[in-house]
Amino acid sequence: MDHIDYDIDLTPEELELKEAAHTFAKEVLRPAGIQIDRMTPEEATAGDSPLFDVLRQASELGFSRMNAPEEMGGVKMTPRAAVLVNEELAWGNSGLAGAIALASTHATIALALGSGEIVDEFARPFFTCTDGSIIGCWAVTEPDHGSDSLGVMQADMAVKARGQLIARPDGDDYVLNGQKAAWVSNGPIATHALLNVHLNPDGKLDQGGICVLPLDLPGVSRGRPLEKHGVRAMTQSEIFFEDVRIPKRFMLLEQNAYAPYMDAHLSLFNAGVGVIAAGLARAAYEAAVEYARERIQGGKPIIEHQSVRARLFRMFTLVQTCRTLSRGVFIYNGTAMKRGVPVKLEHSIASKVYCTNSALEIATLAVQIHGGNGLSREYPCEMFQRDAMSMTIADGENAYLTQLAASRL
Ligand SMILES: Cc1cc2nc3c(=O)[nH]c(=O)nc-3n(C[C@H](O)[C@H](O)[C@H](O)COP(=O)(O)OP(=O)(O)OC[C@H]3O[C@@H](n4cnc5c(N)ncnc54)[C@H](O)[C@@H]3O)c2cc1C
Repeated sequence: MDHIDYDIDLTPEELELKEAAHTFAKEVLRPAGIQIDRMTPEEATAGDSPLFDVLRQASELGFSRMNAPEEMGGVKMTPRAAVLVNEELAWGNSGLAGAIALASTHATIALALGSGEIVDEFARPFFTCTDGSIIGCWAVTEPDHGSDSLGVMQADMAVKARGQLIARPDGDDYVLNGQKAAWVSNGPIATHALLNVHLNPDGKLDQGGICVLPLDLPGVSRGRPLEKHGVRAMTQSEIFFEDVRIPKRFMLLEQNAYAPYMDAHLSLFNAGVGVIAAGLARAAYEAAVEYARERIQGGKPIIEHQSVRARLFRMFTLVQTCRTLSRGVFIYNGTAMKRGVPVKLEHSIASKVYCTNSALEIATLAVQIHGGNGLSREYPCEMFQRDAMSMTIADGENAYLTQLAASRL
């Protein structure tokens, strides 16, 4: 939409990438996202689901392989270019943007933390694969530990409870037993996982470890794909582990390194969710403007009525503040380690909470501007609203994250 962009310093390469991502979002993600939204979770995850074609194309175009250098097979982008691409993908469909981003989780973390052997086993195969057949996920939350699993970096929020996925050392291996929550995104279709485990079953939840593993090991099984409200194109399920044996080298870090790692991990993921929410917010705003220009009531297009314009201006202001905040935080935290400075979790939480709350407000206003049509499936607004609602809970429920961030100020 012509009045949205106000960047004056993008390089020709960045503009080209943004344009390519927008075309993919418009021609592939928007229609596929709407189609998958209307499928049952079983249909959405079946072999002939459009989800797999989306992941294949995203991989071919490099949009799921943005986190690795070219010599590793990746398409190394600057954090600024990655923000532009992710915002466009989320404009197409926020659930699919999430599925694409999460597909690389195990490989990205293996590359960042792993030995040469781990990089060769987990990172290189993903980044050199261009057909989307390797799919990652991040399995962290458990049925009894949602928020509790995410606040472990903060001593006063780390609770003592029995963890539900225990890793027991046994010779050169760990043996995994237990389960992860029904909310593991990409859970039903993932080939690999980045997995949070508990090393002290009855200790505080901050006594954990982070490992990578293939999900075709004996003893791994999944629950039914989850039937849910929003971001239905990003499919979810429980993952169960029964005496699953992994070599100790799959454990990338443990114990004292666990809580600081979770701080950095949540910082990067919350920053990413902020960008996805900004893309979704923009999609809902643009749909409302388009509709308001066409819909005639009171003898003229409704955009000419003062109350409609005022609502659109509120939405416009929120969209632009979301884009500015999410970009700034993603670039700051995305480059922090390279610059040798700590990542700032409170900045990422500010972006995640602000952008997802704003996306929900904007999508709700978009539904109202569409009148009765906003509630019909002929228009995408009701889906945008459901997707935005889901994102206020994904990667930490907003009120909990606010409490976590506020206590660090
Ligand atoms: C779209 C989506 C995608 C997701 N993707 C993944 C994924 O890829 N992998 C994964 O493992 N999980 C995933 N999740 C799970 C998600 O991280 C959790 O749903 C979220 O952290 C909240 O946990 P919960 O649902 O157990 O709610 P609870 O933790 O039970 O929270 C319920 C309510 O209690 C409040 N509350 C909880 N603890 C406190 C406290 N200490 N102080 C004050 N208030 C508190 C919360 O703010 C909330 O309002 C996803 C969830 C969604 C919705």
